[in-house]
Amino acid sequence: MAKMFIAGESVDSVTGATYQVLNPANGDVVDTLPKGNADDARRAIDAAEAAFEEWSHTSAEERAKLLFKAAELVEAERKSLAELLCREQGKPFQEASGELEHFHHGIDFYAGLASKVRGAHVPLPAKNAYGMVIRKPLGVCGAIVPWNFPITLMGTKVGPALAAGNTVVVKPASTTPLTTIRVIELVNQAGLPKGVLNVVTGPGGVVGEELLVNPKVRRIAFTGESATGKHVAEVACGDFKRVTLELGGSDPMIVCDDADIAKAVTGAMVGRFWNAGQACLAVKRLYLFDSIYDAFLKSLADKVSRYEVGDGMTRAEKPKIRMGPLHTAVQREEIEAQVKDAVGRGAKVLIGGARPEGAQYERGFFYQPTILENVPDDSRAVTEETFGPLLPVFRVSSLDEALERANGSIYGLGSSIWTKNLDNIESAVDRLQAGNVWVNSLHYGYDELPFGGVKASGFGREHGPEALDYYLEPKGVVITR
Ligand code: NAD
Repeated sequence: MAKMFIAGESVDSVTGATYQVLNPANGDVVDTLPKGNADDARRAIDAAEAAFEEWSHTSAEERAKLLFKAAELVEAERKSLAELLCREQGKPFQEASGELEHFHHGIDFYAGLASKVRGAHVPLPAKNAYGMVIRKPLGVCGAIVPWNFPITLMGTKVGPALAAGNTVVVKPASTTPLTTIRVIELVNQAGLPKGVLNVVTGPGGVVGEELLVNPKVRRIAFTGESATGKHVAEVACGDFKRVTLELGGSDPMIVCDDADIAKAVTGAMVGRFWNAGQACLAVKRLYLFDSIYDAFLKSLADKVSRYEVGDGMTRAEKPKIRMGPLHTAVQREEIEAQVKDAVGRGAKVLIGGARPEGAQYERGFFYQPTILENVPDDSRAVTEETFGPLLPVFRVSSLDEALERANGSIYGLGSSIWTKNLDNIESAVDRLQAGNVWVNSLHYGYDELPFGGVKASGFGREHGPEALDYYLEPKGVVITR
């Protein structure tokens, strides 16, 4: 049985309550673990608060050394961690392995930055006086993580938080806590002082809520749905906590008539169906110029219809498995409802549009990769986030039309333009209402670049050196001689 990790120890919940994590591919029990409550969260918060003084005064060089070592310890267990992630999340083994690799890269990135934090010396008009800006860690940080990329999205919070000298309580999604727990045990084995990094498992509305309301927590890094993010902002900002919100998205991808079609087809295919479409930065609306529409769609449909859907654990022996199950029954029902709504409004199913048939699919939450045409703009598949393998495709006659429709969403996370024309590129980079624009490039979150959203996709940034700014408070100092 898995345990939570609090104050340097693997522990059960205060009440002794437990719950099970089930494999989305077949319903098997992956493991049993503690069902924490607000008292468990308080234990972890208190431990993190107690550890803050020592950790924030540990030299940046030493913090970096521990983080580099932590990344190595996790890397050494990559295969078994990837298997565990595959079984609890549903993504194919190779994708799970890639996620762990991304975690390793991210922790290394922030370890490298730990000793590069700079302040400022400021001349002042007052006689015999000068100013300084020093940068102080905030204290206890709550890291609230969703189930779609449990490890990388935990790393994007833990890496900069620890590098900057903060302590952390991680709250993984209830359905994907197991790999997180093991990774956090390994990070602690690198030699972190007790209480610097903790993990509490249990329901978001109980454990997560305690992180939001507890006054000892000074920073909340939240990734999840926009509706939950709104609640997080209301509660946590009400207590003047520093908050970043990485929320939902409905990324548009625009393909102009001069684009490299073969590359753009791959970009749309991987960009939409990676992780069974359960990615914030996935391609969720595809806008194709009229003159390339038919050829592009034919090529995309040919390739995607060759996808093999199945249990991601079989991928090692059967590398053709490209897509695992959806993560939960609810997630699949939501995609089914969005497809039904679009078809009811006149959309045409080009491929997919149903659960795959066969005994091997009966116990899991499988759904076929689906492409829809003629989808009205007021359909749920356009107005809502589609968090699954569902791609609505639209015909446009100009860049102006594409940009206007791309921007006609409450979301503003990622976006992409595919063209060789510099005027088109500059126009799209300038006008797309999104935190990120990829030009002739797959929608992907690099550690080196800030990532985040505008509008209902949230505020604040993760990734990049910029992420450190959200874990450090500038302090103005005036020194008079
Ligand atoms: P979710 O909002 O349901 O849950 C996210 C986390 O919040 C979970 O750990 C959950 O337990 C916790 N939570 C739930 N209620 C809470 C409460 N009252 N207080 C505190 N915590 C609470 O999201 P999800 O379904 O796990 O994730 C999918 C969503 O995440 C999608 O909308 C996706 O686009 C978004 N996402 C965004 C990014 C990004 O970087 N912008 C990245 C990945 C996922």
